[in-house]
Amino acid sequence: MEVIEDITLMKNCCRKKKLEKKKIGFVATMGALHEGHLSLIERARESSDFVVVSIFVNPTQFGPEEDFKSYPRNLTMDLKLCQEQAVDVVFVPSEEKMYPEGFPPRVEVKDRLTEILEGASRPNHFGGVVTVVAKLFNIILPDVSYFGEKDYQQALVIKKMVKDLHMDVEIVLSPTVREKDGLACSSRNKYLTLEERKAAKVLFKSLLAAKAAIEEGEKESYRIIPSMERLIKEEKLAKIDYIAIVDPENLEKVEKIKDKVLIALAVKIGKTRLIDNMLI
Ligand code: AMP
Repeated sequence: MEVIEDITLMKNCCRKKKLEKKKIGFVATMGALHEGHLSLIERARESSDFVVVSIFVNPTQFGPEEDFKSYPRNLTMDLKLCQEQAVDVVFVPSEEKMYPEGFPPRVEVKDRLTEILEGASRPNHFGGVVTVVAKLFNIILPDVSYFGEKDYQQALVIKKMVKDLHMDVEIVLSPTVREKDGLACSSRNKYLTLEERKAAKVLFKSLLAAKAAIEEGEKESYRIIPSMERLIKEEKLAKIDYIAIVDPENLEKVEKIKDKVLIALAVKIGKTRLIDNMLI
């Protein structure tokens, strides 16, 4: 396994693989790797000749009051995990190399998709995500790139960018990997105290309760959302940011459930903001 920091070296390496007609599979991460990341890497390994994983805590996708500085970083462990997954190259660019001119200009998907849910709670977040992923795609030229359903809206935004900019990369969504008790794996789970970790189970619990209600025939979002809210509010440490029942294609709100829906939520447990979702 090679670890490459330099952008030109990374470009040359990938262009060589392209000439050799190798299929490049790519997984973009911010490190602090967990089972969720590893599932994406595994899928890339199965379907590609050459697997690139990037580890870059991208400053432009964090708001000024958010956790960029404290975001968990553990490169030694991440490299060990990548090695075990038979990754070919881990790309670890520096902030200065990725953003030599400072942060703007940005690539943006100006669309309702980036304004609702996470976009409403975290202004500029998707601008930062789209900018960094566009840069990484240009450097790595992947044939296929894997994204987690856990960040469902992010994956839709990336798909939109790829379509709008005519990029030659297939975006594949991969199911959310969960801890034994249902909490979605996330690098941010590391922030949780023991008590908060217990309280955090309520996200999945509320999604399961909504799923059960829908499966029993409930069709009205105006009844499902308040019952999820009540359940979450039983946890003293939990503070709801949003709960939404939306169309999985465009994330527009669904009032009456007739077809597949995505239930998405963001909840703060103590100071840690967690997101989760379920396709039903
Ligand atoms: P991050 O390092 O948080 O930026 O995530 C990198 C990629 O891993 C993104 O495509 C995420 O959606 C994906 N990911 C994060 N958590 C999970 C999870 N629990 N299950 C599946 N994929 C995940």
